[in-house]
Parts: sequence; structure tokens; C-alpha cells
Amino acid sequence: MNADPILEETLIKRSQQKKRTSPLNYKERLFVLTKSRLTYYEGRPEKKHKKGSIDLQKIKCAEIVKHDSGPMPCQNKYPFQVIYDCNTLYVFAPTADSRSTWVKTLKEEIKNNDLILPKYHPKFWADGAWQCCRQADKLAPGCEEYNLFGDLTRKPLPPTPDDMLHSHLPGSIRKPPSPLPRDEDEEEEEEIVLAMYDFEALETHDLNLVKGEEYVLLQKCDVHWWKAKDKNGCEGYIPSNYVTEKKSNNLEKYEWYCKNVNRSKAEHLLKSEDKEGGFVVRDSSQPGMYTVSLYTKFGGDSCASTRHYHIKLTQRYHRQYYLAEKHLFNSIPELIEYHQHNAAGLVTRLRYPVGRKGRAAPTTAGFSYDKWEINPSVLTFMKELGSGQFGVVRLGKWRAQHKVAIKAIREGAMYEEDFIEEAKIMMKLSHPKLVQLYGVCTQQKPIYIVTEFMELGCLLNYLRQRRGQINNETLLSSCQDVCDGMSYLEANGFIHRDLAARNCLVSESHVVKVSDFGMTRYVLDDQYTSSSGAKFPVKWSPPEVLHYSKYSSKSDVWSFGVLMWEVYNEGKMPFETKTNCEVVDFISAGSRLYRPKQASKEVYEIMNHCWHEKPEGRPCFSQLLLMINQLMESDC
Ligand code: ADP
Repeated sequence: MNADPILEETLIKRSQQKKRTSPLNYKERLFVLTKSRLTYYEGRPEKKHKKGSIDLQKIKCAEIVKHDSGPMPCQNKYPFQVIYDCNTLYVFAPTADSRSTWVKTLKEEIKNNDLILPKYHPKFWADGAWQCCRQADKLAPGCEEYNLFGDLTRKPLPPTPDDMLHSHLPGSIRKPPSPLPRDEDEEEEEEIVLAMYDFEALETHDLNLVKGEEYVLLQKCDVHWWKAKDKNGCEGYIPSNYVTEKKSNNLEKYEWYCKNVNRSKAEHLLKSEDKEGGFVVRDSSQPGMYTVSLYTKFGGDSCASTRHYHIKLTQRYHRQYYLAEKHLFNSIPELIEYHQHNAAGLVTRLRYPVGRKGRAAPTTAGFSYDKWEINPSVLTFMKELGSGQFGVVRLGKWRAQHKVAIKAIREGAMYEEDFIEEAKIMMKLSHPKLVQLYGVCTQQKPIYIVTEFMELGCLLNYLRQRRGQINNETLLSSCQDVCDGMSYLEANGFIHRDLAARNCLVSESHVVKVSDFGMTRYVLDDQYTSSSGAKFPVKWSPPEVLHYSKYSSKSDVWSFGVLMWEVYNEGKMPFETKTNCEVVDFISAGSRLYRPKQASKEVYEIMNHCWHEKPEGRPCFSQLLLMINQLMESDC
């Protein structure tokens, strides 16, 4: 049989959970389709390990998976399914085109199979039921007619030479399938994770986590909440961002590793600890590389500074890590361990890991799995933080421990029912650069929206209050944070619609997070929602929004350019002297905001990319993030 690849692409595969205890997970695999098999491999084309393979003759159905609401469980957003034997393989393609090519090609290759299904399940099998028909039996027959020929009406299959032969034999039975090699399906092992933070179970279906202890993953039922078992056999839900894989090459296990920390944040962090030899290991903006940031007071307190050292790799076949020449190591933990005892070329030895210790645990997507309604009796109200379109925001405490922001919605300010419906989806949006929605109190008036509390308030005031004191690195780092949060929204198909410095908030550690995403859809105020209204964000809106109300992630990109301009002008009002009508004319005539004094040529170029007249001419957030990361590192 011809083994030349017909298609080859890295896609994401969902585990098939053949064993009851195996977790549901999503892994990148190189998929290769030949005339006889669909095979998936771990690794790159040059160095790949086969993980599983399906005989094409056994495939009964290849079709897209319909998915109408909620974020996708992995970064690829275009799922399709391949049904063979009693199994359904779910595969996620990165684009609609890629998915369509795979499904069409698979259909072409299986069209003469003996066992094409008459009916199939158009949606996922998840949480113990088919999401399309709610049948709870995994083997339940399909609920929708399967059309092997796509949108064309189903034609009878062309007769094969075998059919012709058998049709002449009275009472003929179909040829038994030829003995085929057994499928080498992926071996699904138990996945063990380590807790990076303590977690207190708040509902009976949750599970306590103790930092440093191991847990067996049972199910990755949701991106943010996984079902796990502790050493005593207790089972329950845990926040997925509180644990990390136990495998040996995983740096997250180490106290000194700080994942989402860039150069400027590392400096803030080390300065606030103010310890001689304080250090972190962080991701370098060069993908796959790491940097050690080391704080020293050498020469007295007034000379305190942070040095950044790239962890380098030798060029030899057996690649080794080093910070200073001559001291080579097989792994980063070994390198760190060595330099904890020997300065060996560094300004000082790595004395004090400044990591997760003492830092607040990250936010969780809601306070518990699948729970968005908060009982107001567990909230205490403290000082007022500000007020906005929807009403007054107060600092509060949840169960007397966690600081939260509580927004009391003014009567008549919001389409409350629509928002409450949407809140369930918004709670699943969880990212270190988004202000987390924890839940809502909807059983009384006014209703409350409970979110993550951000100590340093809104970005606009933060910039205005610190005029003349913010260095260029911090300005770029603020833009990087917003871009990071927006890339996540973009990847989840979520449009902000009102991105501006006033709608971002700043945390105690100077991390900027995007807030109020999608909220304009629930505003009950024409002045705000109509593009001719006095409160409409005209100065942050691209031509297609001003003229046709056409919102997209690319309209958010335009607003992001304006936000960058606000950041580099330390909170100045864009188009200061112009009225909204003048701004519309100015933009429509092709003019743009000027270059802020503090913005370099490269930074202004990024803004200008965002202000391309046509949405398709603008970069997407993931591309912008790469550009900003490169700028960030070129200073390092
Ligand atoms: P609205 O959505 O009603 O327009 P905002 O979200 O703009 O209200 O909030 C009004 C003000 O309250 C903000 O400018 C900020 O100063 C403060 N605020 C809002 N949310 C928070 C929060 N999560 N943490 C800290 N301060 C907040």
C-alpha cells in the first residue's frame, strides 16, 4: 500500500479516556494521513515517536464537531471527529481551512468503507453525556444523519467490484473484514501533578490542595477545574493553575521559576524583596530560552541593581546549559543549584529564590467548580473604590479572607438577564492578564458582580499619577500585559468592544489586566451605545465601527493602538483638542495620532500597524505580542 503522506500537520488531539481513571487531556501531535492509515506522532517531523495509528478501513465517520458556546478547551478552535471501532477520536485544527481539508480528504479516503455510519453525534462526548442529544451512553446510536458527501445530498455509494460479485449470490453476506493489524493506540497513563499553592476547598465537591503534595488527575473536565484524587483517596475539583506536572524537566516545580514574569516585572519583584542575591528564573522573550534575573546591593544600598543573564546552550551535539563559560550542566535545575553555591562569574551567587513564596496565589476561574452564584451573606463591604457606568464599586471580602471588588449594579443601568446568562461564559475566561470574574449575586436587587481586586486601580489614573516617573520599560511592559490578555480573548473568539486605558486595572505588583470585556453589550444607555452618543468611545474606534458598527478582534486591535498611545503619553486624552465629530473626519481622511515623545520609532510603528484603515490589514493580537516581546528583549 502507498505510504506517502497525503496530509501532514501538527494538530491537537484529545485523549480518548479509555481507562476510567485517565484524565482528559489535549496534546499536540503530528498527524500523518496516508492511503492506508491515519497516524499520530509526538514531536517534530525530524524526530517523532509514534503514539497511535488507525486503519482507514475501520473508520466509520469523519466529520466536524459542532461547538456553539463556551471557550474551546485548547488553543486550536476547529474540532473534528474520526469514529472507528467503538472509539471517537477528537482532533482540533488551528484554522477552519485546515479542518475542512482534513475532513474532506478523510471522507474521500473512507468513502468506499463497508461500515459508514448512517447517523452520528454532531457534538462532543463530555461530562458523561453526548452534548447534542444528552444520551448518557457512550455507545448510544447517533442522533443526526451523517452525510459522507458534505453538503451534497447523499448519493448511493458507487458499487465496488466486491458488491457486484456478491449481489449475484443469493443470501450473500458481506465479506468479513480482512484480518488487520491491531491498532496501536496511545497508552494513557495516570497523570500525577504537584500542588504549587495551597487551595482551600470551598464546596463539598472541591478538593483541598497542600503545596508540595502529589495528586492523581482523574479528569480534565474543564480548562480551569480538574478532578483529582489525593493520597487518602479523596476526590474533588481543583483549580488547574494551582498544580503542575510532576515530570522531571518541568521548571514550574521550582520555587525560583516565575512563569509570566518579564524583565521589568522581575526588577519590581526583586526590588520589593530587596534581598542581596535575590533571584528568579524567567522565560526569555526568545521562545524556549530562559533568563536569570539577579539582584545585588553590592556597593551599598544606593547602588542596588538587577542583572539579567541569559541561560545559554552549547552548540555541540550533546547540548548543555551555562550561565558563565566553563560551568556546563545537563539541566537548568543543576545549573541553578551550582550557582546557588558558587558565584562563578555572576555578580553574586544566587542566594535567595524570589518565587511563589509569599506571593499571592493566582486567581481561580470562580471560587469553585461550576459555581457562579455567590451568596451575598459571605461578602463584607469595605471602602468605595470608584464608580462607573453601572454603579458604585467597593472593596470587599469574600468569606472574610479574599479581597474582592464588588460592583453594585444601579437599577436601570444594565440588561441584567442577558448579562447573567453571559456571566457563566465570562467566568470561564481566565488568564493572568484579565481581571477575573468570580461570580454574581443575582437573587437580590441591586445585583452584584464580584471580581478580582486590583490594588493600584485603573490604568489611566495610574499613568496620570506617575507622570514623569515611569521608565520606558514599564510603559512597554504595560502594553505587553494588555496585549497578552487580549491575545487570550482573541483566541477564545471574545471581542472586548471598549478597550481603553480606563478599562484596564493595575495589580499590587504592577501587572496590568484587561477589565470590563464585552460589558458594553449590557449597557442600557443610548449615549454610550450609539456611535453618535456623547459617551461612545469614538476616539478608540476604527472606521468600520464608526460607520457600520462592525466589531471584531481587529476592531479591538485598533483600540489597542490608541491604548498604547495613552500609555506612552502617560494618560493624555487622545485627539485632545478635537470633538468626536472632528475625530471621525480626521480618521476618515486617513490621518492618525502623532508619535508620543516617549515612543521609539519601533513602538510607533506598532501603533500604526493597529491603525490600518482596513481590519484585514491590521495584525492580530498574537502577532502584536510577538512584536512587543521582541522589542522588550532587544533591550535586555
Ligand atoms: P463601570 O463598569 O460601572 O463603568 P468601572 O469598572 O469603570 O465601572 O469601575 C469604576 C472604578 O472603580 C474604576 O475606575 C476603578 O477605579 C474602580 N474599580 C473597578 N473595578 C475595580 C477592581 N476590580 N479593583 C479595584 N478598583 C476597581
